[in-house]
Amino acid sequence: MLNSSHEYTQVLMGTTVSLTLYEPNETVVHRVFHTIKLLEDKLTVNRRHSEVMSINAAAGKHPVIVSRAVFSLIEQAYKVSLMPNSCFNFAIGPLVKLWKIGFQGQQVPSPQQIHDQLLLTDPNEIELDPKTCAVFLKKKGMEIDLGAIAKGYIADVVKVVLQQNNIHQAIINLGGNVLTLGKSPLDKNGNWQIGLKEPFSLNNELVGIIQVNDKSVVTSGIYERYFTLNNHRYHHIFDPSTGYPLDNELESVTVISDTSLEGDIFSTILYGLGVKKAGNYLIEHPNLSAIFVLKNKTIELVNTDNFAFQLVSQQYVLP
Ligand code: AMP
Ligand code: MG
Repeated sequence: MLNSSHEYTQVLMGTTVSLTLYEPNETVVHRVFHTIKLLEDKLTVNRRHSEVMSINAAAGKHPVIVSRAVFSLIEQAYKVSLMPNSCFNFAIGPLVKLWKIGFQGQQVPSPQQIHDQLLLTDPNEIELDPKTCAVFLKKKGMEIDLGAIAKGYIADVVKVVLQQNNIHQAIINLGGNVLTLGKSPLDKNGNWQIGLKEPFSLNNELVGIIQVNDKSVVTSGIYERYFTLNNHRYHHIFDPSTGYPLDNELESVTVISDTSLEGDIFSTILYGLGVKKAGNYLIEHPNLSAIFVLKNKTIELVNTDNFAFQLVSQQYVLP
């Protein structure tokens, strides 16, 4: 059993990215961070140029041909944006840009501004051509935003890079999207221990510890990016039907799944469904597990076959 870990970190995608290996391997570390940078360059909407920004810049004018990888991620985002009862909408860009939550100039826009931008967020106004990998936003001002799934997609690609380099035990952490490979060499049962952050904790305290094996653990929460004005908290996940941040009984949702892309998609969708409807959805989807952290300081665990959870915070209770 290997007993020492080697952690490598870089600030990328606006967050701290870390890779933990159990034997030092500078070549692999270089390949992993290089891969993340390349994908961020294609997918970001926080810079002037990227493949996604070229689609947005051509909104209302013409289709844009993108790489096969970016196209297939867009196809998935499109599909989940059209799912019934899904709060997921990758055409949400105009609202994200209007509110600027977590960025310079964050604001509560006027109802009129929100109304105007909402008219530019209909995913049905997006045309995809799989033959040519062309994406067309039909109205001027439309913008796609892959922020809710890009990290999940990138984590899965990093896993493939590691496997191609014969690494079968590792942890990738893309600022809240954690993907574990194989069994932990530090635990006799091979379980990885992943800390679940206590929402709004100032000293990085944990609600609990999640134990998984060869799984992805992704959290979406209202404490990740937000600002407060007049005692009201505005966070970064929007209700595509109102244009305001989603408001329900949840502080966070953590999804345990096989791939990080699924985890990223469903952490956002289950958060939007709220604990009751999300629980009903999960009964039909036993391959997905979830941990709901509620504002009333209780925790609900669903489909517990795929993980174990140990409560450590005294502020929260497990019913
Ligand atoms: P996540 O942390 O994975 O839940 O994703 C949050 C990010 O997704 C935000 O910072 C926005 O870039 C984007 N986003 C916000 N609201 C939505 C939504 N309703 N559907 C899809 N993406 C969204
Ligand atoms: Mg997500």
